This record gives sequence, structure tokens and C-alpha cells, in this order.
Amino acid sequence: MGFAQGIDICYGSTKDDRNVVFFQDGTQKDYRVGGILEEVMRDDVAEILVDRVREWIDKEEPKTGISSAKALLRSEYLRLCEAIEIPQAPSACALFRSTFYEALMRELIRRKDREEEENSAFLKECYETYIDEYATFAGFVEAVAASNSGVGDEQTELITSMVEDWADHAREKLSTLRVTNWLSLLLAEYSHIRKRKKRIRFCANCGRIFVPQKRSDTIYCDGPAPQNMSRCCNEIGAQMRRKRKRGDDGDERAHHNTICRLHNMVRRARSRGDGKDLIEYYRRKIDAEMLRYENEKHAIDSNINNSEEG
Ligand SMILES: [Zn+2]
Repeated sequence: MGFAQGIDICYGSTKDDRNVVFFQDGTQKDYRVGGILEEVMRDDVAEILVDRVREWIDKEEPKTGISSAKALLRSEYLRLCEAIEIPQAPSACALFRSTFYEALMRELIRRKDREEEENSAFLKECYETYIDEYATFAGFVEAVAASNSGVGDEQTELITSMVEDWADHAREKLSTLRVTNWLSLLLAEYSHIRKRKKRIRFCANCGRIFVPQKRSDTIYCDGPAPQNMSRCCNEIGAQMRRKRKRGDDGDERAHHNTICRLHNMVRRARSRGDGKDLIEYYRRKIDAEMLRYENEKHAIDSNINNSEEG
């Protein structure tokens, strides 16, 4: 495997909403509008991009017996790439490689006079540079999703208007666009999403980042629902909408906001590199909120049933 150079994206025409990603190894994959962004932001993928990479670097012992620091880094980098395979998310994997490689190059330039330093310390610094960019990228995507989902604040509005300004000025001069890092992915994808008049949103059921394909005001994603993995959030959502007609809209909104906020905290804690305990704590709060919500709905339903019977 050679050194990573990112992915080439060919954005489809308005008639054909499929976009094709060409990988360095000659393979390709079709994505829907915003699909690459959705892939990179998926919880299971983010966990590999952040936690697994950090775990690998933390357990890495400094290697000896290779002639130069650069050769050492090259071999470490290749071993890291072999350790981080994400077959179900090829674009995220390719972009991890090229973003990490860019971080490595940046660190090399910064410390060109200090070649003798320990390899593991150097890799840790590369990880910091790499994860800093991922956290910025994820933070921008979340700010946009918060604004588009109606749960934004002054800060997210500010970030969103900045990103939209960038995206609207990013011109697709070529039919195929090379993307090598997280932020250039955000620009390419968001520019295309906006041209297609679509939005980045939080799912009101599972909290995932998604890009609604048909109606931009869709609030539920089409991924598997956490309550029942064999069904999609939008199926569960239709059920919830029926229930909501009987219930209280204020509570529905408060629940939506709480779930979005907690999912955000999990993501933010993870990209900041906070401990697993804190992430588990937020996850328990999400479970508790889902339980509270379900119980409340049950209570409303049985009240309605009782009064109908009575
Ligand atoms: Zn969902």
C-alpha cells in the first residue's frame, strides 16, 4: 500500500443524485447526497477514527533498529493504516489515512531539527494534530445540524453562517474533486448538499447526523432505530407522531432537545478524548431519558384509553 492521497469524488447531476467516490486502489462506491458526511459522522465509525487510533498509538512502543527517523515513521504509519481498517466505511477510512498523513507531514516540518526524539512521543503529537482537525470538523457539522434542526444557539448560528459562506464559494471547477482531509470533505459535501437544497440534521429519535433525501424537513433518519434495530427511525417516528397527536407537544420538543443535546455531549466528549466513564455516563442519561419518555407516553395512552372506556 502506498501513501494515502485521499479520495476523488464525482458529484452527479441534478437528475442523478448518486455521487461516486473513486479510491486509490481503483475501486469505487456510490453515495447519496451527503452520504460521505453521514458515513464519517456515524457513531461506530467515529469510535474507530478517534478511540481505536488513540488506543493503537498509546500502546505503541518506540521501535529501534531502523536507520532514520523518517523510515521509522513511514513504517509506523503503514502499520497504523493496517490496524485501522473500516471495510463498512471506505471513504472514512481513506480520509483517515490521508488526514493522518498530513498531520505527520505537518509535525515533521515543525520539528525538522529534532529527528532523534522518541518515536512514540512524536506519534502522539501527530495524533493531537489529527484529532484536532477531526474535532473541528465534527463540531462544524454538529453546529450546522443544530441550526437546521431548530436546536441551535447564537454560537451555532455563527458557525453555520461561516460554513455556508465557505460552501457557497467553493466552486466545483472540475467534475471530479480530490479530497484529502476532514475539512475539505465538509466543504465539498456541504457545497453539494446546499446546491441540492438539502440540509444536515439531527435525527429526532436516535440523534444521528443525517441528510434527509426527499423532504428537507424530515426529522427522522432511515438508519436502524436504537429501540428496535430491525426497524428504521422513520418507521418508529411515524408511530411516535401518531402518539404525539394525543400527547403534549411541549414534552415532545423537550424530549427531542434533550436527546440531541446528550448525543452531542457524547460526540464532543469523544473527540476531546475524555474518559470512557464520562461517555458511559452520558449514554446512561440517554437511556434514562428514552425510558422516561416511553413511560410518559404509556401513561398518556392509558389515560386516554381509560377516559375513552369511561
Ligand atoms: Zn435516527
